[in-house]
Amino acid sequence: MATFKIGDLTIGGRQKIVMAGPCAIEGREQLLQIAREVKARGAHILRGGAYKPRTSPHSFQGLGPQGLFYLKEAGEETGLLTITEVMEPEELDLICKYADILQVGARNMFNYPLLKRIGRTDKPVMLKRSFMATVEEFLLASEYILKEGNQRVMLCERGIRTFDHITRNTLDLASIPIIKKMSGLPIIVDPSHGTGRSDIIIPMAMAGLVAGADGVMVEVHPNPKKALSDGLQTLDFPHFKEMMDELGDLYRYLASAEEKRTNRITGATNP
Ligand code: PEP
Ligand code: MN
Repeated sequence: MATFKIGDLTIGGRQKIVMAGPCAIEGREQLLQIAREVKARGAHILRGGAYKPRTSPHSFQGLGPQGLFYLKEAGEETGLLTITEVMEPEELDLICKYADILQVGARNMFNYPLLKRIGRTDKPVMLKRSFMATVEEFLLASEYILKEGNQRVMLCERGIRTFDHITRNTLDLASIPIIKKMSGLPIIVDPSHGTGRSDIIIPMAMAGLVAGADGVMVEVHPNPKKALSDGLQTLDFPHFKEMMDELGDLYRYLASAEEKRTNRITGATNP
């Protein structure tokens, strides 16, 4: 199983990673407030879009370079690593200067020139599954990056389009162990985009980790109703704390289950 380091953080190791932050960076104060809160609750990586791939050209498109400056400042102040989306090759040099991890969004998973260009950088990258990609297409897309030399690639299951619209996307939990088995790459579960519903983010985050995900990405905002994008799938601060507490319980349960399994195998305890 491939693991890699970003600074002191190991991706794909025993420790599960939490990436949290707003869908879009809306301003300096907003981002600093969120960064401080998610750091205090134990997150490892601050997420926030500066260049937003919105379905409608009339929606908020992100703060662009100004957003990147805020992201860097919030990362430096809190000690969190940062991740942000790259939409075009022209943005790449600037984003590499200001963020620790590159995100390729669902809409760009099939953008092979962009993937190749990212493959020639030395920045860790998280590639999100397109909502219309099969697992095989997803893995082949990741190979566009790997083939150019960049080996610090993690994947992200963020739901696919199905006939059912009770959720925004259908979070494909079964893909998680399959992808790990087929690719050996670390994989993150994104229950925000994967469901579009803040009321089921926590159980789906837990389910993703139980399925074998190496971490969770969730959207967090002090007032999701006022968020400029994706408010419906965003946790407020009390619910983010609740998620982190529940994940703590889950890690303890998983560690004890693992210990029992190892003891059984090594014969340290009777079955
Ligand atoms: C995001 O993470 O904010 C995002 C736009 O995600 P996706 O590309 O999965 O839609
Ligand atoms: Mn979003």
